[in-house]
Amino acid sequence: MKTELQGEVTLASRVQSRHRDMINVSAVYYNLCSHYGNLNWWPASSPYEVIVGAVLTQNTAWGNVEKAIANFTYDMPLSPELVEIISTEELINIIRPAGFFNQKAMYLKAVTTWYKQYDYDVETVKRQSLPALRKELLAVKGIGEETADSILLYAFGFPTFVIDAYTRRLLTRLGYANIPKKYDDVKTIFETELPLDAELYNNYHACIVINAKEHCKSKPKCDGCPLSGVCDTFVQIKANDIKSYLAEILDDKRYKHTLAVCDTAVNLAQRHGVDTQKAFLAALLHDCARGLDTEQLINYCDEHNIQLDDYMRNDINPVHAFVGADMAKQCFGINDIDILNAISRHAIGCEEMTLLDKVILVADATEPTRKGCDVDDARLAAGISLDKALPLAMRIKSRYLEGRPMHPSSVKMLEKYMYGGRQIAN
Ligand code: SF4
Repeated sequence: MKTELQGEVTLASRVQSRHRDMINVSAVYYNLCSHYGNLNWWPASSPYEVIVGAVLTQNTAWGNVEKAIANFTYDMPLSPELVEIISTEELINIIRPAGFFNQKAMYLKAVTTWYKQYDYDVETVKRQSLPALRKELLAVKGIGEETADSILLYAFGFPTFVIDAYTRRLLTRLGYANIPKKYDDVKTIFETELPLDAELYNNYHACIVINAKEHCKSKPKCDGCPLSGVCDTFVQIKANDIKSYLAEILDDKRYKHTLAVCDTAVNLAQRHGVDTQKAFLAALLHDCARGLDTEQLINYCDEHNIQLDDYMRNDINPVHAFVGADMAKQCFGINDIDILNAISRHAIGCEEMTLLDKVILVADATEPTRKGCDVDDARLAAGISLDKALPLAMRIKSRYLEGRPMHPSSVKMLEKYMYGGRQIAN
């Protein structure tokens, strides 16, 4: 069993803290909409059917609502005029599949009476003000905030954001701390950040619901979720899986080194404005192939079509970085190209390093278990400038070469960051 480093818990909470004061609901929508597109909600053939659906869906699955609505027949088509004149008993029989039919029949009668004051006319309703309509609806028996907003948004096209249990669950899992208890306060988070746009609110809520059904279920199914790149829960779940694996395959010293690199990488990421979740995952996985011996590394490269250059055919050390990036993708479902690049570049670097690449390479060379004056110098430099720390870090990582030439990519990197592109003798 490997020992856990002190401070690991605080590290996890620091990674999470990225979101504590930042509710970037626009970025969440961008990810959702890029994946799901325009869902054209609500699934109904008339505004009145939306009203009925919004009432019937309370405390039941949508499939039961569809069964109830299908009970309105050709002779008795769903319309406010019909619901107005049929008896409560007849209505109960029709909507029975939706459950809680006694209450819901009462609610449908009540909301239909509300609609009648506008002559069952959508345009007449639309001429009223949103606050006034919302107040009226909330006074109707059985119409709560979520139902009122669903009706106003999806039946009449008013820009009012719908908050439901899926929305709260999603915000919690994304890592947003202190989600307000009051419905209106959560709604304000969205409406403050987003433009007042009914079409946007319509599709945003639809995407949340669909994502909750496909991925963010009560037990999350994170693989393939479009929000995995911005989700704290994803990182936690992955981190636990990865840690269990690393604890098995790495020796104690290497495992401690990995956790120390995570801590250092998160610190550097915070200091230099780099995504801390990406830094954490890249750091955690940077040495995941270190458990493989030379023969296993070469076999892995053959089987996964990883090309070794002449240098790496003579020095196997940098190969773990390329194999590690591939394992991160194949074994741990990490698809983020920034993370994969940072893993593959951490050993020898390259000329065009991203900020995340630099964070991982520098963290690898300067984490607290590394000792030496050159490490202290690199640590000091890293606090000020990643570009200044990078060449120092590469020198530290190349100690094992004992004077033998560095990989050509490392030389190029040193030329760029140490000598402004001028060639150096290796
Ligand atoms: S990554 Fe997982 S926990 Fe996060 S939103 Fe997606 S399904 Fe939910």
